[in-house]
Amino acid sequence: MEKIYLDHAATTYVKEEVFEKMKPYFTEIFGNPSSLHSYGQTASYAVAEARNTVAKILNCLPTEVYFTSCGTESDNWAIRGIAKKKGKGHIITSIVEHPAVIETCQELEKNGFTVTYLPVDKLGMISVEELKNAIQEDTILISIMFANNEVGTIQPIEEIAKIAKEKKIPFHTDAVQAMGAVRIDVKEMGIDMLSLSAHKFYGPKGVGVLYVRNGLGLGKFITGGEQERGMRAGTTTTHQVVGLATALELAYENLEEKNVRMVEMRDYLIKNILKKIPYTTLNGHTTKRLPNNVNISYEFIEGEGILLLLDMDGIAVSTGSACSSGSLKSSRVLLSMGVEEGLAHGSIRMTLGERNSIDQMDYVVTKLANSVAKLRKMSPLYQD
Ligand SMILES: *Cc1c(COP(=O)(O)O)cnc(C)c1O
Repeated sequence: MEKIYLDHAATTYVKEEVFEKMKPYFTEIFGNPSSLHSYGQTASYAVAEARNTVAKILNCLPTEVYFTSCGTESDNWAIRGIAKKKGKGHIITSIVEHPAVIETCQELEKNGFTVTYLPVDKLGMISVEELKNAIQEDTILISIMFANNEVGTIQPIEEIAKIAKEKKIPFHTDAVQAMGAVRIDVKEMGIDMLSLSAHKFYGPKGVGVLYVRNGLGLGKFITGGEQERGMRAGTTTTHQVVGLATALELAYENLEEKNVRMVEMRDYLIKNILKKIPYTTLNGHTTKRLPNNVNISYEFIEGEGILLLLDMDGIAVSTGSACSSGSLKSSRVLLSMGVEEGLAHGSIRMTLGERNSIDQMDYVVTKLANSVAKLRKMSPLYQD
């Protein structure tokens, strides 16, 4: 049976070229980059190269790139860092953020900070007007994700950054889903802090970046050594940062061409599902959407049922975000977009990757139509 992986927003495989580049740093060039002997210095050189590569792609200085252990850590550092520096105040974020942002803000609320969770419209977009109105005298941070992990909606990042700059409020964006899919120039876009994670763009799990604009004055996150210019201690994982930089470089090679193909596949899949399976609706924006994201609701049935039947056919999909699957709660993101509870429960996210093909999409639609029909036949809500 052919296996088809359609859950690239949860994580991706590591590209062979990335893996090959990483290998020597496990076995041969294993020195501690902080060591002064040649073992250490060779490793240190590789880390510097990786940092330069990331800086070039983001259009920032290498001294503005901090390697972390993951996207979640980067988000925590950005938000907690500003909170710690200011001591008190008001944070603006959105209701559709990843738990790494939402739960960090909720934690800060327990410590006396106040937080505005901006609502979204039915396409998953925040309103720039509402953002403006939410700003208070004591607003210390605006954190809005670049693109959503469940429905793929891309936020008006440049407009948000402009408002933040006018009001002299630091602006952080969780770009974990957008990185490798959208070109991001932190200087041109006016971004002060940005989180990314390698395992979402064909790099290894366990390594991320927090970009911090020089002069922002974000404090240390992990104490205990001089790594990452004394801001984030812990022995540098040379193989991981080499993997991240290699994957990032590959992701931005011929990006526009790859996106044309990806969007074609995405729209083909959406069109065929909506046409061939009755009582289905697309969630999220039609154009301001990540090139690989398909999120559709199937009336009268539950997403978990579809997921399990498709899995038996070798097709891997997701209900909502990977973090909330396992719990049977409806997606917070879909509910906040005004999707009715039943429909939210009956939604499936398919996120495409570079190894997928149009031919596979036909196979997926056939299997999906069968699964949906089977489940509806058993559903008390559905009457043919
Ligand atoms: C995956 C993801 C994260 C978390 O990144 P990890 O590296 O898995 O910790 C954060 N934000 C968004 C939008 C994500 O998709």
